Amino acid sequence: MSGKRGGSGKKKLPKKQIRAIQGKLEERKAKLVKILRLEVGSSGGEPESIDNCQKELQVSLSLRDRERLAMELQAIEAALKRINSQNFGICHDCQEPISQARLESLPTAIRCIECQGEFEEKARKKGFSYDRIAVLKAGS
Ligand SMILES: [Zn+2]
Repeated sequence: MSGKRGGSGKKKLPKKQIRAIQGKLEERKAKLVKILRLEVGSSGGEPESIDNCQKELQVSLSLRDRERLAMELQAIEAALKRINSQNFGICHDCQEPISQARLESLPTAIRCIECQGEFEEKARKKGFSYDRIAVLKAGS
């Protein structure tokens, strides 16, 4: 069984590419963790490790922003887990490889663009808000 793919450019991401994405995700994750921790610690806790990102981080987050960041963090952790278990870049629904361009612009994507479209359509019909969809995207 040699599969139905005819080399149409839809192939798994090269390892090197995955490493690069992994690096980006880890960087972003560290930043998010810092933002969320600083925010939580703002009521008395002493912030360790203050660096030149501080000014940027001092912006007070609304609850909504914080939720969004927490969700993003979740999605990133899930993506890193998929990288470790070699599932990264495979669509959750159709098991086909997700296109490289999509992964580069959205490394936390768990579905190919077609499946994501269908998924969001369905979610919308069920009345989920966009934020709700983002949670579902995070996969947990
Ligand atoms: Zn798919």
